[in-house]
Amino acid sequence: MKAELISVGTELLLGDIINTNAQYIARRLADIGIFVYYQTVVGDNPQRLKEAYDIAFKRSELVITTGGLGPTKDDLTKEIAARYFNRKLLLDMDSLQKIETFFKNTNRTMTENNRKQALFPEGSKILPNPNGTAPGCIIKEGKKIIIMLPGPPKEMAPMFEASVMPYLEQFQDCVLVSKVLRVLGLGESLMEDKIKDIIDSQTNPTIAPYAKEGEATLRITARGRDKKEAEVIMAPVEKKIRDRLGDNIYGVGNTSIDEVVAKELIKRKLTIALAESCTGGLLAYRLVRNPGVSAVLIEGDVTYSNDAKMRRLNVKKETLGKFGAVSEQTALEMVQGIVKSSNADIGISVTGIAGPEGGTAEKPVGLVYVGLYIKGKTMVRKFNFPGNREKIQNRTVMNALDWLRRELEHMN
Ligand code: ATP
Repeated sequence: MKAELISVGTELLLGDIINTNAQYIARRLADIGIFVYYQTVVGDNPQRLKEAYDIAFKRSELVITTGGLGPTKDDLTKEIAARYFNRKLLLDMDSLQKIETFFKNTNRTMTENNRKQALFPEGSKILPNPNGTAPGCIIKEGKKIIIMLPGPPKEMAPMFEASVMPYLEQFQDCVLVSKVLRVLGLGESLMEDKIKDIIDSQTNPTIAPYAKEGEATLRITARGRDKKEAEVIMAPVEKKIRDRLGDNIYGVGNTSIDEVVAKELIKRKLTIALAESCTGGLLAYRLVRNPGVSAVLIEGDVTYSNDAKMRRLNVKKETLGKFGAVSEQTALEMVQGIVKSSNADIGISVTGIAGPEGGTAEKPVGLVYVGLYIKGKTMVRKFNFPGNREKIQNRTVMNALDWLRRELEHMN
C-alpha cells in the first residue's frame, strides 16, 4: 500500500514549528510495513489543500493528514475532503457531547464554532480524541482512504496509537506485538534521557514514550512474521530498557499503581490504614476500587481540619501551632496516629496545599508531605507538585502509592 502524508498548517510553512507529526507517522507506518512515498506541507488554504488531495490520490491509496481540524474558519481539512469525495458534512451527536464534556472538564467556555468539530463527512469513521476537542476521522471510498488527525502532537499521537494502528492492521502483512511499560518516579523527559540511545537507534522493535496523567509509559512494538518471532525480537531490547529504568518500571500493560499496590498488600497479607488531608479520600478510593482490598484496608480517615487531626489522630496542638498543618511534623504525627489507633501494618498520611488558594512563599501550592509507616519505621517525604488542584491531588496519591510499592519490593 502506498501512503502519503499531508501536513496542514501555515505555521509549518512559515517555519514556526517543526513537522514532528510527519516524522512520527512515517515511523509508525514503517513499523507496520506501510511505506510513505511522499510528504506534503500545505497552508490553510482551500484551493491549495484541494490540489494537494488531487495530487496525493493520483499516486497513493492512503493519505493521512494532520492539522486543520480546529474550530476556526481556516480549519478546512474535513470540509475539503468532504468536497473531494462529494459527501455532505453531518453533525455527530456523540462527538458533540464529548466536546461539550471536554470543555466542562477543563473549565473552558465552549463557543458556537466548536460545534464545527463535531461535523464529519457522511459515512466517516470517527476517531475519538480523549486529549482534546477535535476528533479525527477516516473516509474510505473504493481503494482510496483518507485519515484525518488533529495537529497537536499530544492529541495526534495517542489517537494514532489507539485508533489508526488498529485500523491499519487489516492492510499489513506482518504481525505486531506491543508491550507497554509503566513508569513512575521519572518524568517523561528523564525517562527518555535514560534510554535516548536505544530510542534513537530503534528500527525493530520501535519504542514510543508517552506522558500520561502523572506517569510515563513506554510502548515497545516488535514486528515479525508471526507472534513468536516478534516476541523474540522484542525480548533483548525490553531487557536493555529494564536494566536502565530499573525499579522505576512498576507494571506492564493495562494496570495502575493502585492495582499493583493493592495486589501486593493482599498477597503479603499486610494491613493498611490511611489519614488524608488534601487528597480528601482519593488515596482510599484508589485502593478501594481494586476488588479484594477489603482483606487489607482497615480504614481511610479524611482529617481535613486541625480539629480532626487532633481528635482522630492525636496530632499535638503545639505541633499544628508551631509547624502548621502542612508540615513534616504534622505528617509524621498523622501517620503515627492512624497506625496506633488502627493497629495496621502500614500507614500512610497526606497533608499538603492543593490550591489554587492557600499558598505562601514559604509553603507554595503543590507542597505536600507524605508520611509512611512500614516495618516499624516512620518516614516523611516532601514533594512539590506542579499543576492544578486535581493534578496535585492525583500526583500525591500516585507518588504515595509508588513509594509504598518500592518499600514493599525492598522487603523481599
Ligand atoms: P486544534 O484542535 O487545536 O485547533 P488542529 O487540528 O486544527 O488543532 P492546527 O490548528 O493545524 O491543528 O494545529 C494546532 C497546533 O498543533 C499547532 O499550533 C502546532 O503547535 C501543532 N501542530 C500542528 N501540526 C503539526 C505538525 N505537523 N507537527 C507538529 N506540530 C504540529
